[in-house]
Amino acid sequence: MASVVRLYVDHPLGVGQSVPLSRDQSHYLFSVMRKGVDEVLELFNGRDGEWLARVVEAGKKTGILRCESQSKPIMLPADLWLMFAPIKKARTDFIVEKATEMGAGKIMPVYTDFTNSERVRQDRLQSHAVEAAEQCGGTFVPPVMELQKLSTLLDAWDDRKIMFCDEMRIGQAISLSQQPGPWAVLIGPEGGFSPRERIRLDAMSQAHVVSLGPRILRADTAVVAALALWQTTLGDWR
Ligand code: SAH
Repeated sequence: MASVVRLYVDHPLGVGQSVPLSRDQSHYLFSVMRKGVDEVLELFNGRDGEWLARVVEAGKKTGILRCESQSKPIMLPADLWLMFAPIKKARTDFIVEKATEMGAGKIMPVYTDFTNSERVRQDRLQSHAVEAAEQCGGTFVPPVMELQKLSTLLDAWDDRKIMFCDEMRIGQAISLSQQPGPWAVLIGPEGGFSPRERIRLDAMSQAHVVSLGPRILRADTAVVAALALWQTTLGDWR
């Protein structure tokens, strides 16, 4: 079966709506994927669900699609944020891709005491989230925030619960199942959390220490494991 192309577009979608394509999208669709006039693909914009759209104009650098019918309603993620300390570039990209597939509602790189990476390219990370959503059949793209300091975020923290994943506290884990509501998963960098970060988080009633088992996971593995644990107990895997 020829695979149907799925594209994210930043454009309103609805019956009869024309959607102009960017240069990159036209190149991808018509040159790389060899699609042409009259072919049908799936579009989503993060707001209006998924739509079947037909190619009405196909140029080398431009193109126009027309929406025909809705194929999926919008599927919003659970109210779950992912806060993680950025690590090496390829692993940070992996984290954003996997967090999108796992249904995180918002992706927040945070700068912690032992974070090595000084900078993240928010635009690049956001495009990884778009690609992951295209690939996994999602109709929502989680926003990827600019790098923020964890301490600054915690200064203004509201009552959202924090799933504080700490490999140093195996056996102290709580059960999440009695704790519905908005949550944020927190994963540290390769060096883990600093003593003062532990003291600070332990003093917050919103923070709940969670163990991901007796082995020390790499941060990128820990992200996937933590999101799976949350989705199974409180999220949309139930
Ligand atoms: N400080 C450790 C490694 C940190 S692992 C060391 O250098 O030995 C990176 C992050 O993954 C941690 O900060 C934590 O958030 C998460 N993590 C890894 N293994 C975990 C586990 N078994 N339980 C809970 N969190 C874990």
